[in-house]
Amino acid sequence: MFTSATAFHCSKLSTGIDMKHHQRSQETLSVHAGKDDRSIGVVNAIEPSSAFHYFDEQTQLYPRYFNTPNQRIVAEQLAQLEGAEASLVFASGMAAISTTLLSLLAPGDHIVLQEALYGGTDALVRREFDALGIEYTFTDCNERELLAATKPNTKVIYAETPANPLLEIVDLQALAEGARRKQIITVVDNTFATPICQTPIRSGIDIVLHSGTKYLSGHSDLSFGAACTSELLYKRILDKAVLHGGNVNALTCYLIERSIKTLAVRVQRQCENATQIAHALSEMDSVEKVYYPGLKRHPGYEIAASQMSQFGGMLSFTLAEGLSSQDFLQALELITPAMSLGGVESTVTVPALTSHKAMPDEQRRELGIHEGLVRLSVGIENVSELLADITQAIDRTRSGSVPKRRVQVFDAL
Ligand SMILES: *Cc1c(COP(=O)(O)O)cnc(C)c1O
Repeated sequence: MFTSATAFHCSKLSTGIDMKHHQRSQETLSVHAGKDDRSIGVVNAIEPSSAFHYFDEQTQLYPRYFNTPNQRIVAEQLAQLEGAEASLVFASGMAAISTTLLSLLAPGDHIVLQEALYGGTDALVRREFDALGIEYTFTDCNERELLAATKPNTKVIYAETPANPLLEIVDLQALAEGARRKQIITVVDNTFATPICQTPIRSGIDIVLHSGTKYLSGHSDLSFGAACTSELLYKRILDKAVLHGGNVNALTCYLIERSIKTLAVRVQRQCENATQIAHALSEMDSVEKVYYPGLKRHPGYEIAASQMSQFGGMLSFTLAEGLSSQDFLQALELITPAMSLGGVESTVTVPALTSHKAMPDEQRRELGIHEGLVRLSVGIENVSELLADITQAIDRTRSGSVPKRRVQVFDAL
């Protein structure tokens, strides 16, 4: 029972099932991990309390202590899916990222990160770390550069794979081994891959972070984050998390718990659809280049094939010279132009005008993110209908018959 636990690392949540579940498949874990053995129903209860009786002096349940029943259920689900000893759940991906980094880094320490990084993480480092006295180096998106940029005071290497928006791949095992030799902690943002496609901790990575706002939620209706790691690092992150207060409420936890039960089937369908769309786009005259790690000519294909069970639901492409990406977005009828990703509905964005808009032009160009680049988050719809929508939108873009209805969305950003 929760109430008699003294420390609440997740495998104590349901003592009867934890070890068995560590040997189960991701599909089965998605459905069954985190079952609270106090619950007499098939699903767990929602316990919204922020005030709890205390039954012994060592157990104080409180939302900002990250130990309330619904928080621990989701933490258990994610720990099992990621193959972690423990995990903490947060109110957003950025809460998980900022608290984790600030628990690992002190003034005088150094962190190495890849250039191709989620915009919020990039901004956190560039805008906040100087004032905190934390040094940082950004490198190209591969394990060799990340390892080569370390210094005697490097404490953390931070990676995202596949990376946004060009889906570059970092070799997780090589990164983990190289970093371990130098006693540097490795942190990987696994938002794009999800634990259905990739489990970095099983490749030796120390900490996995998530923006659960994306695939874990899967329904574009909530904000959530997580950090999955060893029990030792978990305690270090928890110490800071309690102070930073990025905890998530019970109702959101319940929605995430519910979403995770369908994570495996959703992501599998998204990966299948993305693979078909990537191949179809590659054949189109009006498409110049397709970025998808499941395509054999993608530079990260070999590593992706070795460390991912599927290649993910995200892909990017550039239209042929002269075709406007904004016209293309406006011409789509089924696929929705939207900033976020990972939902059951397919969404599309032009990173240069949205997620990477704040980046200086030169840096953006160096990264290969120009205005013709379109990023697609593939949903679970019928793939023929998705392809038909893309084809009709390209045709109308080429013929110049695109209505101007959605342009203000981007003007407003
Ligand atoms: C969205 C996102 C984040 C930030 O998550 P929030 O839930 O918006 O705070 C971090 N990393 C990646 C890869 C993301 O896509």
